[in-house]
Order: sequence, then C-alpha cells, then structure tokens
Amino acid sequence: MKNTLSHAIVWFRQDLRLSDNPAFTAACREHDAIIPIYILDDSLPLGGAQRWWLHHSLLSLQKNLKKSGLGLCLRQGNPLDVLTQLLHDYNVQTIYWNRCYEPFAIERDTVIKAFFQASGIRVITTNGSLLHEPWEIKTQTGSFFKVFTPFWRACLKQITVPKKVSVPHTPKTIELDSDLLVSWKLLPTKPNWAKDFALHWEPGERGALQKLEHFIDVHLIGYDISRDVPFKDATSKLSPHFHFGEISVWDVWRAIERVACNKKHDIRSVERFLSEMGWREFSYHLLYHIPSLPQSNFKSDFDAFPWKNDPVALKAWQQGNTGYPIVDAGMRELWHTGYMHNRVRMIVASFLTKHLLIDWRIGASWFLDTLVDADTASNSASWQWVAGCGADAAPYFRIFNPILQGEKFDPDGAYVKQWVPELRSVSARWIHQPWMAPSDQCGLLLGKDYPHPIVDHAAARKRALLHYQTMKKKHD
Ligand SMILES: Cc1cc2nc3c(=O)[nH]c(=O)nc-3n(C[C@H](O)[C@H](O)[C@H](O)COP(=O)(O)OP(=O)(O)OC[C@H]3O[C@@H](n4cnc5c(N)ncnc54)[C@H](O)[C@@H]3O)c2cc1C
Repeated sequence: MKNTLSHAIVWFRQDLRLSDNPAFTAACREHDAIIPIYILDDSLPLGGAQRWWLHHSLLSLQKNLKKSGLGLCLRQGNPLDVLTQLLHDYNVQTIYWNRCYEPFAIERDTVIKAFFQASGIRVITTNGSLLHEPWEIKTQTGSFFKVFTPFWRACLKQITVPKKVSVPHTPKTIELDSDLLVSWKLLPTKPNWAKDFALHWEPGERGALQKLEHFIDVHLIGYDISRDVPFKDATSKLSPHFHFGEISVWDVWRAIERVACNKKHDIRSVERFLSEMGWREFSYHLLYHIPSLPQSNFKSDFDAFPWKNDPVALKAWQQGNTGYPIVDAGMRELWHTGYMHNRVRMIVASFLTKHLLIDWRIGASWFLDTLVDADTASNSASWQWVAGCGADAAPYFRIFNPILQGEKFDPDGAYVKQWVPELRSVSARWIHQPWMAPSDQCGLLLGKDYPHPIVDHAAARKRALLHYQTMKKKHD
C-alpha cells in the first residue's frame, strides 16, 4: 500500500546508481513522490582524484534521474542539518539510504538515525554494496575472520544470489533548490592534473557497465594468469565504480555466473575473479570489526617499528623518481590515470615500507589522495598486508626485489616504457636495472636523463631486516 501522504528522501552516498539499488527501489515502491539528494560533507576526507570522479559521477546520476523525470538535489553541509531542514520544509516522513561501513560513516549515520527515529521519522537502511553484511559472516566461535581463505569459504557457503531489484514505476519528483555542481569546485584547475583521466575513465553507471562488458568479452578468459601482467591491462578496472556504487556487486556476480554457465571453460579465472571481489569483502569485514584499521597496526608489535622520516625519499617515490623502473612506472601511472595495477601497487608499497622504511600510513594517505578508487577499507587492509603488520599479512621479511618483480611481470619492459618514456631506448635486457647496462647499451645518461637508484636493493633489504629484528627485540 503506497503512502501517498508523505514524501520520502533517498539519500545517495556511495551508491550513485539507479540499477539494482535497494534504497532507491524501496523508496520508489512505497512513495508517490521522492527527493533524491546528495550531500557534500566538507568535514569528511575526499582525495583529489576522487573529487574529480565524484563530479562526473554526480553528473551521470543527474542525467539518469532526469531520464526518469526526477531531479537530484545537491546540498553542501552537515548531513543532519541538511536533512532536518528538508524534513521540515517538505513534510518528509521517511528517509532511505544504503549503508556505508567506514567508521566515520557508521558514527554519523547512527547519530542521524537515532535523531530522526526519536522524532517519529522512519529511517530505512539497506545493504547496497556488499555481498554479505560484515556481521553476518562468523567463525565457529562466533568471532570475526582474520584470515582470508576461511572467510571466503564461509562467504561462499552462505551465498544466496538475490534477484535484481527494479523500480516498477518512477514516482513524482519534488522541485526544490539545489546547489550547482560547479559551485562545489570538485575539479582541479591550476594545474589541471586530471586532464588525462577522462581518456581512461567514464564515471557513472554507463561507464561501469561498459567496463564490465569489456572485461567479460575480452579479459575474463585467462584472467587467472594475465591479471598479474601490468602491461596487459587485463583486469576489470571496476574498483572506482564499486567504490562509488555505480554498479551493484550482485549485478557483477550474476553477469560472471552467467558466463560461467555458458562457456564451461576457464572456471579457474571465474573463481579467481570472484575471490578478488572476496578480498574487497574481507577488507570491509576487517574494517567493520577493527575500526582503527586505517590508523593502527593490526599486529601491535609493529607499534615499535623504527620508521624513518625521510622527506627526500618520499618525494622521489611520490614522483616516480626512485631509479627503480617498475616502481617509477607504477607511481607515474597513478599520477596520469588515478589508478595503478594491483601487482605494481604491491611492489611500490613494499618499496616504500621496506626499502625506504617509511611508515605505511604515509603511503596509504598518498594513495587516498591520488587513486580514483581510494577506499578506506581496501586501502588500509592492503597497505597493512604489504607492510607485514596486517591481518593474514605477507611476512615483513618477504621483501619484494623490484628488479626481479619487474623481470617476472614485465619481461620486455613494455609497462615501464609506457609510463617512463626516458627509458624507451633501453633494451629489455637492462630495462629493470639500467644502471647495470654497459654504457653503449643503456641509451641514456643516468643521473641526468633518469635517476640512479635512491637505495641499493641488497643494502636496503639488509637494513629492513635489521630494523625488523630491532622491533622484535623491543617487543619481546
Ligand atoms: C597497497 C595497495 C593499496 C590498495 N588500495 C586500494 C584502494 O584504495 N581501493 C581499492 O578498491 N583497491 C585497492 N587495492 C586493491 C587492488 O589493487 C585494487 O582493488 C585493484 O587493483 C583494482 O583493479 P581492478 O578493478 O581492475 O581489479 P580486478 O582484478 O578486476 O578485481 C575485481 C575487483 O575485486 C576487488 N579487488 C581486487 N583485488 C583486491 C584486493 N587486493 N583487495 C581488495 N579488493 C580487491 C576490487 O573491488 C576490484 O575491482 C590496493 C592494493 C594494494 C596492494
């Protein structure tokens, strides 16, 4: 039975889509008139690359809502104040939103929900971004999982793929004042460092769907192996779309399952891809149960780790001038596209925390500012994993050798040459250690055209292990 007397608010947050959106669908089913709103809360951290993405994603959402005869209300400020004002002005009796799981979002939403419920307003919250709620997956003792494999096994056991939700008809819109998107100044101007982003991305539902279809058509077969080769670009590139909720995880799941049924081959790749989605789930599971994950070492013995304060080395890393080609290629890919291949993320993160001994939190914060897919859960869990202090982490003493990693995953140097053009004339033999090349085969002047390595790998490795021992002694 429709509630024709009341208006409802649909508060869009990290679910900037209309398709398979539980909060939007529920509101449309229940009400004749709705107010779709997005609130820019300036007190919350939003990295530079994500501001670019958000601008375009909101444009896309506006466009899609308009096709259904609905307007998107944009407001800036404290969400509680903005929503209270709207409730008061427009006789709103119900608010819908899809849940967010970052600690600051949980805290904010808990306050808002309690406040409105106490005033007799209905608050309906739904899961619009995860396969399972983080509290639904439990170990046999009722605790949360700290190791990925049993976590994922438990997730798969409990999976029931839901039917896609859809809007039977679109309700009326309520005309109300909205900020102009441009007035939020989300796009960089001087300098416009995001000028190339649009070559790589189309934020919004259409872009997300295209990425999914392209991945299924071209890259799913063989993903299991190709996913580790940065130059092949063979992964889905769905991460920023997932982060902003422009595609539903279930839509992706169902699409992959359909392929798996039709083409009975390469099940390994299908399973591998779904388990990568599982790592995203695991990160959210960890963040929910350990809200201090973005700030504090999961393994507390790392509290005694003697991190170095080295602004010069940090700058070289950020700018892709470490003298290690695979590291520099990754950092420059990030700068140009707002994205970095997963294998290379692991290499550059290992380099920062082990070769340069710089605190993982400093690297994580650089990523949060520069990645279009910057995500508190996946970023914190992954940095802690690489640094060795996280749940189910790689042991600290497993130190990636950037030369061998380059030779293994970028054997002819194609990825390096794509992002570090000054190395294009270096032969494949020397591309990952140009300083070792005989001068007639190097093709450039080291120290002038391209930096010498800022640390020596063998010495840095030894130093890192020594620091690790010192930490262990301090802790024991
Ligand atoms: C140091 C470091 C920092 C990272 N920071 C982020 C981040 O801020 N945001 C983010 O989304 N991912 C992060 N990742 C995880 C991973 O690198 C990206 O999710 C992946 O590269 C996205 O590319 P894709 O969509 O093509 O992945 P695909 O290989 O196509 O995988 C499909 C989806 O699975 C999820 N996924 C894949 N690998 C991981 C992983 N290791 N952890 C969690 N989820 C995963 C992503 O949602 C991804 O879109 C980080 C990894 C490292 C090592």
